Amino acid sequence: MGKVDLHVHTTASDGLFSPVGVVKLAEEAGLKGIAITDHDTVEGIEEARAEGKKRGIEVVPGVEISTMWQGKEIHMLGYHMDVHDSRLLKILKKQQEARHQRNLKIIDRLNELGIPVTYEEVIAKKKGNARKNPGRPHIAEVLIDKGVVKTMDEAFDQYLGKDGKAYAVVERISPFEAIECIHQSGGAAVIAHPGLYEQDDLIPLLVEKGLDGIEMNHPDHPADQKRHYEELADQLGVLKTAGSDFHGERNGSMYHAPLGTCTTDISVIKDLKKQRLYL
Ligand code: AMP
Ligand code: ZN
Ligand code: FE
Ligand code: FE
Repeated sequence: MGKVDLHVHTTASDGLFSPVGVVKLAEEAGLKGIAITDHDTVEGIEEARAEGKKRGIEVVPGVEISTMWQGKEIHMLGYHMDVHDSRLLKILKKQQEARHQRNLKIIDRLNELGIPVTYEEVIAKKKGNARKNPGRPHIAEVLIDKGVVKTMDEAFDQYLGKDGKAYAVVERISPFEAIECIHQSGGAAVIAHPGLYEQDDLIPLLVEKGLDGIEMNHPDHPADQKRHYEELADQLGVLKTAGSDFHGERNGSMYHAPLGTCTTDISVIKDLKKQRLYL
């Protein structure tokens, strides 16, 4: 028995707490375990696992891969992968390069709109290893600093989100390729926050490809959506997971939710592991 939160970001991507910091927070929140699921990187995991050992908190190695399907961004969570697997690391490196190119495109567009943002200003906002893996939230912080927008939501609505004036896309792997990559490195694949995509027809196709679970409980899923994805997971015979998508507080507001808001039983960690053992 015990509660675990299976969707947590750190300073290895766009979270505001270090890998050690999130483990400390998990202990304070009374959690028995967390999964570190940074965007397209596994860099924070070793540090978090070492801290977890000290504090008796189970830290699951995870990742959240940004994929693209029919023009929509779909996030695929991976759990229990071998974080030293060379194929996994190669794909994540390509994904990081894609995000970097995308950032440069966004900055170009902002400049074209008469908003003078530089790459140096963006990485100055990155906590932890500044040069590695900055994302759109860091660009948003620069826009707030410059008084272009007042809030993170405004930055995404007006400039950085899908309908924003400076939005840019680059090629990403498909969710099917992400499943393959996660499986090849020994992990289980779970579709993140499906309620955000309005793309339920994709889910059975992913299950055919070997999808292991659905993130049923997420802060952006209202109660009826939670029920819906719970039923869908049962119907498709895949696991149900939960996570807060914790990033920390940025510019005074918490995107998604505090650590420990969306949790599931610790047994789900084992269930995710079992998925791969019998292949
Ligand atoms: P990227 O991975 O660089 O494409 O950036 C996407 C990240 O932006 C995701 O991790 C989201 O958590 C974050 N994000 C999206 N919309 C918002 C928002 N309105 N406020 C804060 N963060 C956001
Ligand atoms: Zn994020
Ligand atoms: Fe996500
Ligand atoms: Fe996330």
